[in-house]
Order: sequence, then C-alpha cells, then structure tokens
Amino acid sequence: MMGLGGYGTRVAGAMQYCTKAKLVGAISGTPKKLTDWQDSFGIPAKNCYNYQTYHQIKNNPDIDAVYITTPNGLHHDMALAVAKAGKHVICEKPMALNAVQGQEMVDACKAAGVKLLVGYRMHFEPHTLEVIRMRKAGELGKILFFRGLCGFKIGDPKQWRLNKELAGGGSLMDIGIYAINGARYMTGEEPIWVTAQETKTDPVKFKEGVDETIQFQFGFPSGATASCLSTYNQNNLDKFFLNGEKGWAEMQPSTGYGPIKGRTHKGELNQPVTTHQTVQMDEFSDILLNGKQPVVPVDGNEAVKDLKIIDAIYAAVKTGKKVELSL
Ligand code: NAD
Repeated sequence: MMGLGGYGTRVAGAMQYCTKAKLVGAISGTPKKLTDWQDSFGIPAKNCYNYQTYHQIKNNPDIDAVYITTPNGLHHDMALAVAKAGKHVICEKPMALNAVQGQEMVDACKAAGVKLLVGYRMHFEPHTLEVIRMRKAGELGKILFFRGLCGFKIGDPKQWRLNKELAGGGSLMDIGIYAINGARYMTGEEPIWVTAQETKTDPVKFKEGVDETIQFQFGFPSGATASCLSTYNQNNLDKFFLNGEKGWAEMQPSTGYGPIKGRTHKGELNQPVTTHQTVQMDEFSDILLNGKQPVVPVDGNEAVKDLKIIDAIYAAVKTGKKVELSL
C-alpha cells in the first residue's frame, strides 16, 4: 500500500479477510504510520519504504503489486515509478487528472511489462453484477435511459479534495466519476456526446477549477441517454436508475460502501452483501497473477475512457456546447 490515509487504511483492514491477496508492505512519508502498520497488519520492517526509497521495491520479491491510494494529482508520477520498479500497479480512482496523463500511465505499464488496474470496486459488487446480467440477458429490453446521482456535502475547506493541483477538479473527479463509470456499465454503451452545466453556491470554498456541482448528460449510439448529477453540496445522493423497454432497475445506495440495495421490475435484489475491498483485492490477485478476465474491465484503458469523458464534461461546461466523443 502506498499512501496510508483514509482509504488505504480501509483497504488494509479489508485485506485481513482476503484469501488470495496479502498485504506485505507499506510506503509512507510518515515514519510513525509505518511502525503502526507493522504492528496492526503484521508487515515486516524490511518491506516498509518512504517516498525517497520506494524505487528499491524493485529488489523485493515479496512485493508483486503496489496499490496507490494517495491524492489524485500524485497517481501519475507514482504509477510511472512503480512500473519502472517492475511491479504491477493498482491505482485509485480517478486514475489521473486527465486522459493524457492516463494514457501515459497505460503506455508506461505496457512498456514495463506490468499490469495496471484501477480500484473500481463496484465492478465486483453482486447487486451491480446482477443488474448487468439482467441487462445483458435482455430482461430489461432495449435500454432507454440511465440516471446517476452522486454526491455528499464536503467538510474541511483545507483538504486536498478542494485543492485543484492535488484533486484535479472538484466533485466530478471524486464522486461524479461513479455516475460516469456507472452510466457505462449499466447501459453497456460508451457515450458519443456530452453536455454539462455547472452551478456554484460557494465560490470561496470551491475556487476556480474546483467544481461544486455539475449536471451532465450523455447520448449513446443506440439512442439511449443519461442524465447525472455530481455534487459536493448535498448529502443523500447515491442513486442509480436504469430504464428499458421491458423493465427497470433502481439502486440506492448504488456506489457507497454498502450494503448496496436495489430493486427491479421483478422485485427486490437480494444478492449477498460483501465487503467491496476484500472482494476487489482477491479478484485483483486473480487478474494479476492468473490472467482472470473480470465481467466489467478494471484496467487502465477502462480508466482512460472515464478520464476522456471527464475532460469532455469540463470542456462542455466551459464552452456551453455539446462535445462529441469517440471512445
Ligand atoms: P486521504 O487524505 O485520507 O489519504 C491520502 C494519503 O496520501 C495520506 O496518507 C497522505 O499522507 C498521503 N499523501 C502522500 N503525499 C501527499 C501529499 N503530497 N499531499 C497530501 N497527502 C499525501 O485520502 P483518501 O480518502 O484515502 O483518498 C486517497 C485516494 O483514494 C484518492 O485518489 C481517492 O479518490 C481514492 N478513494 C477511493 C475510494 C473508493 O471507494 N474507491 C474511497 C475513498 C478514496
């Protein structure tokens, strides 16, 4: 694990229940965190590094992959360094600040002969997978519309999530990306156009380049459309709705840590409740070491598509125009 903050700690805790993946090392700029993690997770001191020394993982056979859970703006350079050290890269969402950076990460991992995976934990979530199965089986009929509402009210104005350099933007980079990614896996299509509108109630807290609220719409090749909301200014927003000619699916919560709840035109979804990070890490282990193919991709190319859409949404906000896409 690299970046032992809130999410890294959640993943480390969840990995205690993994049967295939194992937490064997840590990278941090804070010495005390490294000793705490040695105690909490049984990590040997020889597998602990700081940001000046982590290139030495190259010579450590205990380590197969590094999971980057630092602020968004650091993912690109860190991923390149991990690839250079010859280790597989697992990176948190958003994988980078824009599609150009994302593509550089994909290319660097390819050149180094390592895999690049992104922490899209919903791609392994059972309720989500059931809706995807129903859609693929034609149980919803032709897909007509998706709606994704993602947001929370953000606190501390000094945190990195509200710093343009470290976050790359605002709510869209952090939470709106779930609606973008969800629109793609729920409909099974890639958007061909984007329109978007930004609103801001607090320009002091949400500075230039840090979006508070963006609403965006997609058009898909089949003629289906999507309408989504991303915000840092409302709680209780974690909802997906997918409508087809023969049926529908609704999920709320749809992308939080769970339990995910949902129903369709056939009734309640009652799939097993899982700890997303435990399942994700075991699945990642199978993908990295055994070449397993997930139902919904979790690789760098998948993340570049989301980043291209994010770039298009910001461009649509700026110009007020419809932006065409080809993914
Ligand atoms: P956090 O602030 O809790 O942790 C970030 C860690 O990075 C901290 O330990 C911090 O010390 C470290 N760090 C290293 N260099 C830093 C620097 N220059 N500036 C600031 N911090 C630095 O943040 P988090 O909530 O753990 O988020 C980390 C990443 O994980 C983000 O990319 C975020 O989008 C992602 N995330 C994903 C999920 C998910 O469900 N998949 C949930 C939360 C966060």
